[in-house]
Formats: sequence, C-alpha cells, structure tokens
Amino acid sequence: MLKGIAASSGITIAKAYKLETPEIVIECKQSNPAEEIEKFNKALEQSKKDIETIKEKATGRLSEDDLKIFDAHLMVCDDPALCDGVIDKINSESVNADYALDAVAGMFISMFESLEDAYMRERAADIKDVTRRIKYHILGVNIADLSLIDEEVIVVAHDLTPSDTAQLNKKYTKGFATEIGGRTSHSAIMARSLEIPAVVGVTNIMSTIKHGDMLILDALKGKVYINPDEETIARYRVEAKRYEEEVAALREYKDKATVTVDGHHIELAANIGTPNDVAAVLENGGEGVGLYRTEFLYMGAKDWPTEDEQFEAYKKVLESMGGKPVVVRTLDIGGDKHLDYYEFPEEMNPFLGYRAVRLCLDQKDIFRTQLRALIRASAYGKLRIMFPMIATIDEFREAKGVYEEEKAKLVAEGVAIGDDIQVGMMVEIPAAAVLADKFAKISDFFSIGTNDMIQYSMAADRMSEKVSYLYQPFNPSLLRLIKMTIDGAHAHGKWAGMCGEMAGEPDAIPVLLGLGLDEFSMSATSILRARKIANSLSYAEMKELAAKALEMETAEEVLELIRSTVK
Ligand code: PEP
Ligand code: MG
Repeated sequence: MLKGIAASSGITIAKAYKLETPEIVIECKQSNPAEEIEKFNKALEQSKKDIETIKEKATGRLSEDDLKIFDAHLMVCDDPALCDGVIDKINSESVNADYALDAVAGMFISMFESLEDAYMRERAADIKDVTRRIKYHILGVNIADLSLIDEEVIVVAHDLTPSDTAQLNKKYTKGFATEIGGRTSHSAIMARSLEIPAVVGVTNIMSTIKHGDMLILDALKGKVYINPDEETIARYRVEAKRYEEEVAALREYKDKATVTVDGHHIELAANIGTPNDVAAVLENGGEGVGLYRTEFLYMGAKDWPTEDEQFEAYKKVLESMGGKPVVVRTLDIGGDKHLDYYEFPEEMNPFLGYRAVRLCLDQKDIFRTQLRALIRASAYGKLRIMFPMIATIDEFREAKGVYEEEKAKLVAEGVAIGDDIQVGMMVEIPAAAVLADKFAKISDFFSIGTNDMIQYSMAADRMSEKVSYLYQPFNPSLLRLIKMTIDGAHAHGKWAGMCGEMAGEPDAIPVLLGLGLDEFSMSATSILRARKIANSLSYAEMKELAAKALEMETAEEVLELIRSTVK
C-alpha cells in the first residue's frame, strides 16, 4: 500500500493504466537497409492506425475544428518529402530507421520552427508529435495515450497537467494517482470538478506499480493498494457502497437555505472552470458561482480567445445561473498553468513570478479584451469581476482603472451593460491580507484564495509533495490572516468570501463561520455536505470557537479544538 494525498473523494477498484513518456536514446548504427525500411514502413502504418483510432474516439467529444488536428497528423504520415527522405537516407547511408527518421524530421522541424508564421510553427509541432509516435513503434516502446483508453482503469502517472486532466474520459477513467502534486494543484482541483477520485503526491508510484496491476484507490484516506487480496477488495466494495449512500443522503439539502441554528445566513457557491460546469452547480444546490477560473477558456484554445468567444462563454454562465451571483476571475495564467500559444519567460519560481494580474497589467491588450467581454456579458446576469494575485494598492487601482476605461468606451458605444457590477479582488498574497482594511475602501469585495495564501505565507510550493506538510489550513497564522481580511471588509461594509480549497473542507467550515466569512465557494460536489454542516451549527458558539482558535499555537491544536467542539 502506498500513501498519498486524497485530492478528490471516492473509492475505486480497477486496473492500473500507466501513463509514461519513456525517454528514448537514438544512436546511429550501421544496418541492413532492407530490414530498416521494412521497420519504418510498419511503424508508419501502426502510427496511422493509432491516429485514426484516436480520432474516432474523439469524434463527438471534440469540436470539428479540434478534430482537424488528427487529419494534419495523418497528412504528416503521408508526406512524401518526409517518408521518401527517410528511405533515401537509410538506403544511401545504411543507417537504422529511427536514426534516419530523427535526422530527416529534425531538419523539417527546425525549418518550420524558424518561420514567423504561426500556422507553419504548428506544423513543426505536428511533425514532432507524429515522428515521436513512429519512433516509439520502430523501437517497440509502449505508447500510453489517454484517448486510447477503452476499459475502466485507474490512470497512474508521474504528473497530469491540467490539460491532460481535461482530456480524461469519465466513462473509463475511474480514478487517478500521481507521483507529484498537492491538494491544491490544478489537476487535483479539476479532478474534483470532474468528480474523478484522485490521490496525488504518491512517492515511488511509478517505480512500484506495473501497467495492468489491480489497484484499490482510496481517495478518502489517500491510499493506493497494489494487487490487494480478496478480503481487502471485499472490504472496499462495502466501503464504496457506504460512501455512495452517504452522498445520496445529502440530496435532501439541495433546496434548503444555508442558515445556522441561530439564524445566521451564509452563501454557498461553487468554483467552476468552464460554462459546462454550471449544470453541476445547480444540481448541487449552489447559490452562486464564487470563482469562475477563466484561464481554462484560454488553455483550451489554440490562440488567445477573441472578445466575442469570451463574451459567449461569460454570457452562457451568467444566463444559466439565472440571476444568481457569478464571480468571474480575470485571467490567472502562469504558475502551473500554461498556454500552447504563448511562451512564458524562464523563471526559477513561476508561482512567484510573471502570472495573473501581473501579466495582464503588463500586456494590457489581453486584459482589455477580457474586460470588454465581461462588461458586455454583464447585461445577462449578476456579474462580479475579480482580479487575481493583487499584492499592492497600486495594482488594484491600475486594474480597476483599465476596467473603468473599457466600461466608459462601451457605454459611449451604446452597449447595454448591467447596473450592479461589483469589482473585487482575490486576497491570496499575505501582503494584501495585512492591508485588507485599506483595500476594502476601494474593492467591492474580497475572495480569499487559501491555496496560494498558504503557499506564500508558509513559503511552501503548492506543487511539491515534499513540503506538503506545510499545507496547514488550520495553522493559527493563516486563521489570523483570514480574520484580518474579513474584518477589513466588514469595517467598510463589504463582503468577504473564500474560494480556496479550504472553504469546502468540512473541518474548516465551523471556524470560518465563526470568523465571519460571508461566502464559501468550493467544488460543486462539496456544497451539500457543507450545507448539512453549517445548518447544524450555532453562529454564537462558532464565534467563541474561532476566538479560541486564534489564540492557539499549532494547526493540530486548532483541529483538535474543532473536532472536540463540533461532533
Ligand atoms: C487560490 O489560490 O486559493 C485560488 C482559489 O486560486 P487558484 O487555485 O486558481 O490559484
Ligand atoms: Mg490563486
């Protein structure tokens, strides 16, 4: 049994599907040309078959436009300049097929990459992708591919990028376990919104588990059992059923208000990544969207999304939420979130670097496009705009200034816009929490991002399992930063929410309630349990509990206090 971090709840029993990108070494060897040409042709045919299968599986799941990538890949396989070039090289130099392919493809790749034209550069990426597949076939290396999965499996990988996670097909992917990552890495967050059980940060998982091993993924306790005995499997089948029943029993809270036994109301909202997530928000009784991570719109695109594309997405979310508040966060790219069409500067610490509002204030055309799309969409619902990673008053003023300019332009153009747009900020950098009483004069609301606030206040990279013990939501130091933020907001009649993962943690709800948090935003699947908890608590008692927690010394003491007070 291996231990990791439970990142998305559930229990699954299935075979392991190991996702590996093996390192291959290509060497030049004197060889028999006829044999090498046969190897090459066979590998080429196998690769074509793979691509056709992947395309077939993706049909219906991807847009017509996205499917075209596979046709481009098939064209590479049929390209005479490439194929004849490889065969000529094998014949004239008596070299091995993989070496000849690597040399000829390498030439085309550098040629296309050196061109300015974005279309041509994409061709370089296509050739790279296809020739890697052909090389693997020549060398007899197993190619793992998420879209080739066609049976129920648990995906095991060193890491899954957010875009890998987005590709997972829920029908077959019954869970995943990765070597790196923490509870708040973006793959973990996406797993929760896709409702795929996940355990992350499992040390040595790749060297211990073999492709096809039977696994039990206990994503409630963060355990992975490898080839378990019948007795353990039977015990887990019972456990999985119990968990399913518990989840089903929470349905009764769907249409209830969120109110403590002594009449204190709070709002339970959901975090979403795409307009498609809204259905789950409503199904789970969400009272609003507390965080729409718009970067996923950018990450799923081939180029910067246009104003109209963005407008359609934002309008869809606002309309589907039917007048309930929707907090849309402006682009928070960087850190562990990348774009295929934009090269980030090399940095030693990307989470401390060029990301989020820092990038937007530096490249204002990108920012303006998004703000215009948002302001236009405001006519269709109750929009709240929020800037991520605000560290200084000047940054907030500058970002708000750009918003005001775009709003004024749209008004002058006669565009209809909503009359109660609020403009707020994420409080996720300790500097902003400490100065919350000043920020509250100029910001309409705060949303506390504990995922980043914890990594910055503890100086512990949220992606590193080695320092994951420092992810301490219950540390009194963090509780004090949260208190400063909430008190700062309330002193100026503003509201304070939280959209970091802490907001949905059952043990955290009592103390956050006691600290006076107004809005809790979490993955949609956490809402019903949170409502059950909140509705069983007394606000007066939780205020006392919070006051005691703030005076404690360690996270363990706080957790112990909460668990002994709230049964
Ligand atoms: C956070 O930092 O808590 C947050 C909600 O934002 P993200 O996880 O996208 O950085
Ligand atoms: Mg953040």
